[in-house]
Amino acid sequence: MRIKKCILMFLVVSITLIGCTQIGMKEYTKNIFALDTYITLTAYGRRNTPKILEKAAQRIEEIENRMSTEIDTSDVALINKNAGISPVEIHDDTFYVIERALWYCNMSDGAFDITIYPIVKLWDINGDNPRVPEKEEIQEVLALVDYTKVILDREKKTVFLSAPNMGIDLGAIAKGYAADEVVRILEEGGIEHGILNLGGNISVIGNKPDGTLWNIGIRDPREEETGSQYLAIAKISDCSIVSSGDYERYIKDIYEKTGIRYHHIFDPKTGYPADSGLIGTSVISKRSIDADALSTCLFVMGQERGLDFLKNVEGSSGICIDSAKKIYISSGMDDVLEITSEEYRLEK
Ligand code: ADP
Ligand code: MG
Repeated sequence: MRIKKCILMFLVVSITLIGCTQIGMKEYTKNIFALDTYITLTAYGRRNTPKILEKAAQRIEEIENRMSTEIDTSDVALINKNAGISPVEIHDDTFYVIERALWYCNMSDGAFDITIYPIVKLWDINGDNPRVPEKEEIQEVLALVDYTKVILDREKKTVFLSAPNMGIDLGAIAKGYAADEVVRILEEGGIEHGILNLGGNISVIGNKPDGTLWNIGIRDPREEETGSQYLAIAKISDCSIVSSGDYERYIKDIYEKTGIRYHHIFDPKTGYPADSGLIGTSVISKRSIDADALSTCLFVMGQERGLDFLKNVEGSSGICIDSAKKIYISSGMDDVLEITSEEYRLEK
């Protein structure tokens, strides 16, 4: 078992160097902490590759400075400060991400809702003082959650939250956008093979240097029960795979006492952590901005509604894992996914 696990881990995490036979092509890696997560950028290229990676890292920091709720001068913070007061002119990239996010808000009928921020703050799952708020508090704050009150002006590039105390949070989509920007910068720099990991949001450029597909491990949401880090491998090239789940960020001490996981993905209809029966979702899309938004959508919507919803979004395929350890997949996933854990069962 242990040996099997080691081999599997080796397969999953090893980024093979075989194939870097073209003269001067080497593996280069850059690690940064940004967007509230650990980020590793790996590219195969020539001597100028570190410079390209540096440029990509700077772009991630720029995106963070514009889109973080926690940075006072960010576009998002300014929009939130001016809720109910006035429209705010913002950078093109923030505008683009908000516009795309609102498309998902609409299409998912509010399962995805960037105006979730007051609820995020109330629970503070990712912060210093996470707690389970009273029902009344949740009801009161939930009245502020309504993506139809985000008013965009395309000409003036302004965003206006039409009611006071509203707030937006791009936490479910900004990492995806950042990954797409890194891919763009690397490709413009001539990189043909690379892999990016933005806190579990994975994007790959081309194939592996040896010409084979990238093997991406899908985290087992119940690693502490099953003992295996991954439950499946996705074999992909030139696309992004993003996962959401109840296992990364939740109130740990309450979980240890009660077995209830109060996690960080909320159902905008209830103001409570989404309780659709799923413990994990993954989505593969050409662009990471879509995979990021969609993995969150699926997690809130549940497997039936979620996988049905996915049919509206061309070129994306998804995986839903429920609490009974059943795996549901959309069309397009059959050839890509190899389930490696015996604890999980694929439902047809
Ligand atoms: P992660 O960023 O941890 O990988 P997600 O992409 O699923 O996971 O995004 C979760 C984050 O998105 C939360 O921390 C919160 O800021 C925000 N969020 C929570 N629930 C929703 C929702 N229903 N719609 C949009 N954003 C949400
Ligand atoms: Mg997401």
